[in-house]
Amino acid sequence: MQYATQQKMGHYSITKISEQELLSFAPGKLFPELGEQAVDPALFPPTLLSPAGNARLSIHSWLISDGSQNILVDTGAGAKKSRPYAPYFDSLTPPFLERLQAAGVRPEDVDVVLLTHLHVDHVGWNTVWDGQIWRPTFPNARYIFSADEYRFFSAPENQIDRHRTSFMARADSVDPVVESGQAIMVSVDGSEVLPGIRYLPTPGHSPFHASIAVETGEGVALFAGDTLHHHAQVLRPDVNSIFDAEPEKAQQSRLRLLEWASVPQTVLFGAHLAGTSVIRIAKTSEGYRWREA
Ligand SMILES: [Zn+2]
Repeated sequence: MQYATQQKMGHYSITKISEQELLSFAPGKLFPELGEQAVDPALFPPTLLSPAGNARLSIHSWLISDGSQNILVDTGAGAKKSRPYAPYFDSLTPPFLERLQAAGVRPEDVDVVLLTHLHVDHVGWNTVWDGQIWRPTFPNARYIFSADEYRFFSAPENQIDRHRTSFMARADSVDPVVESGQAIMVSVDGSEVLPGIRYLPTPGHSPFHASIAVETGEGVALFAGDTLHHHAQVLRPDVNSIFDAEPEKAQQSRLRLLEWASVPQTVLFGAHLAGTSVIRIAKTSEGYRWREA
């Protein structure tokens, strides 16, 4: 696993802060719609598979720094969180903050946390357990996320089996930053949430999922969130993962994302892509292709 990879784009450096790798899903289990193509090496080259042949998925944050401001995109699964329905995220203790520190950033140095959506593996380090309560990990940060998604995962009528881990994550990882007054809830409508930073609607994986576009001065850094999980979905954007709540919307959002990403000078930063997790997208007569950025 690469713990930190760094890209320079315009006035920003963008660093991957790894939390963990998930290696427990066979391609056919992650993407049931692929059928027999789930073993196609064109979709799943060996570098994107574990030694056992499972899909490599990374869980990480992106640290965006311009020397005066530190922004985190998504915050992994977090530490010591009880996740009885999601065993691979249950009661972990990954050295995420140590890795952030190794990149030169202490928790108090984080100015902004941008959340693509409110699933368990994206909000974890929003809070840490202080022995008595879950408190915000980043005491000086504003946490920006969709108001509609927060409402969705707070409404009792949505507390069905599929969403039960999201409700737990909302309670221990999002509510505390709302209560501390650090939350800025926004509409995911393409408008700027901060100068040069837009939340683009890519619903489907989660109800109000956002991809995040950051204008760097030398092109756009596009944070995909969970619009796609694996490089294979660049070649087969019609294929959803088992984690996509609304398959048709997820597919449309993935196509929209790839279209945005194929604009020259745009770089795509994945939330779960393995390897460097950073790719460029080209549009061809046959669809989309990717290469490591
Ligand atoms: Zn995710």
